[in-house]
Amino acid sequence: MKLRLAIVGAGPAGIYAADILLKHERAFDVSIDLFERLPAPYGLVRYGVAPDHPRIKGIINALRDVLDRGDIRIFGNVDFGTDITLDDLKQHYHAVIFSTGAVRDAPLDIEGIDLEGSYGAADFVNWFDGHPDVPRTWPLEAREVAVLGNGNVALDISRILAKHADDLLTTEVPDNVYEGLKASPVTDVHVFGRRGPAQVKFTPLELRELGELRDVDMIVYDEDFDYDDASKLAVASNKQVMVIDRVLQQWRQRETGSASRRLHLHFYAKPLGLVDDGTGRVSAFRYERTRPDGEGGVVGTGEIREIPIQAFYRAVGYFGSPLAGVPFDEEHGVIPNHEGRVLHAESNEILSGVYATGWIKRGPVGLIGHTKSDAMETISHLVGDQSDWWSPAHPDEESVPALLAERGVEFTTLDGWHRLDQHELALGAARGRERVKVVPREEMVDVSLDRVSSDVDGSTHVSD
Ligand SMILES: Cc1cc2nc3c(=O)[nH]c(=O)nc-3n(C[C@H](O)[C@H](O)[C@H](O)COP(=O)(O)OP(=O)(O)OC[C@H]3O[C@@H](n4cnc5c(N)ncnc54)[C@H](O)[C@@H]3O)c2cc1C
Repeated sequence: MKLRLAIVGAGPAGIYAADILLKHERAFDVSIDLFERLPAPYGLVRYGVAPDHPRIKGIINALRDVLDRGDIRIFGNVDFGTDITLDDLKQHYHAVIFSTGAVRDAPLDIEGIDLEGSYGAADFVNWFDGHPDVPRTWPLEAREVAVLGNGNVALDISRILAKHADDLLTTEVPDNVYEGLKASPVTDVHVFGRRGPAQVKFTPLELRELGELRDVDMIVYDEDFDYDDASKLAVASNKQVMVIDRVLQQWRQRETGSASRRLHLHFYAKPLGLVDDGTGRVSAFRYERTRPDGEGGVVGTGEIREIPIQAFYRAVGYFGSPLAGVPFDEEHGVIPNHEGRVLHAESNEILSGVYATGWIKRGPVGLIGHTKSDAMETISHLVGDQSDWWSPAHPDEESVPALLAERGVEFTTLDGWHRLDQHELALGAARGRERVKVVPREEMVDVSLDRVSSDVDGSTHVSD
């Protein structure tokens, strides 16, 4: 018996799931096909983690080692729902795992959210990480910007906005992004959180990094450090909160005033809305000052404040997207499941042969490492459910590329990814950089399918 398994989504969750299954004790052989919408694998590690976080980007090396073993086939540039459907998968596989992650911003219901100059963090991240499916330009015209959120994504956004573009040049930042950031007139980035410094979701490393930005002053406000008992307890009992507090306290003592840019951290701020400048553009952020409620939460004080801004970014979380023919929980943005076994949307019964892992299983929280434990749980159920798998009419491996080719889908493979990877490294080497990312999808596909020759100066030519 050979399990033919389809995995949809080649982010860390999908790749770890494949790896864990291959190493899992089992009484059958496996053959795994990984379908990925983009011409490059690695999901948010490539298109979410910021370019100036090379250590985290380095997780790609571990994921690449898994793929390079050669026992998993990749079909890149294949969109589940368009190029291949659930019915197709049932014809060719015994089971499917969905690991499609989350790519869009969670909504934020405040007045003025649709004004010009109001953006979602995910859209901006997609732009600065060179996602092929978003426009190449980003309107960076604001001098004063507000970022709402107290998690690491809010810090990523604020850091990229405040950092001088030249300090990104050693990274894999795409050329169009460098040019855009270089021309940015930004002087002040204001980060707002509803609660206090002892309740943030930042991690200490990411916070501390802000204090090391060249020519950027960190500004914190004394009014935010009048801790209540719950906050004092959090600082005293939780090492992470203790370190965060220490970093913030150091910034309170720092001399400021000489830098050309400032990054302000405001706490106890409940967003109320964005103010229209009369032409449909954002001109201010309005918020209510909150205060601690003694139990780790906050209550409004009734004091309304406004701060002038010309751009607003909400970093209030990512949200999963529905997949054609697959149950979806609209409220939480996940595929409904019990420990990775997908459930029927209405009856809550287990849907045979269909599994989920990663952010689409559990929601968009947690680090890359967490997708590994997710995958372990999902795989242990998959392995134990053998009697409930599908019975495909065409389980042979060749039938899948034949189907895609018949449909005219220009799919890429592991060899294609190697080609693109080498091409990007060569573009980088020619300019003394680690890598220069290829951004347009067509160019990614052309390089992957070996339809491009490149010159040392980095220019590329599509062959006939
Ligand atoms: C801005 C940002 C910064 C982050 N920084 C860090 C960090 O520094 N450290 C850390 O540990 N974690 C970080 N994370 C979290 C980390 O990225 C996630 O934990 C992890 O990527 C989730 O993995 P996943 O495989 O579930 O989803 P994803 O990484 O989103 O992968 C899903 C894959 O599925 C593909 N896909 C989606 N729909 C389809 C479809 N219909 N057909 C085919 N393929 C499809 C997508 O293209 C994607 O490749 C960050 C996240 C964000 C958003």
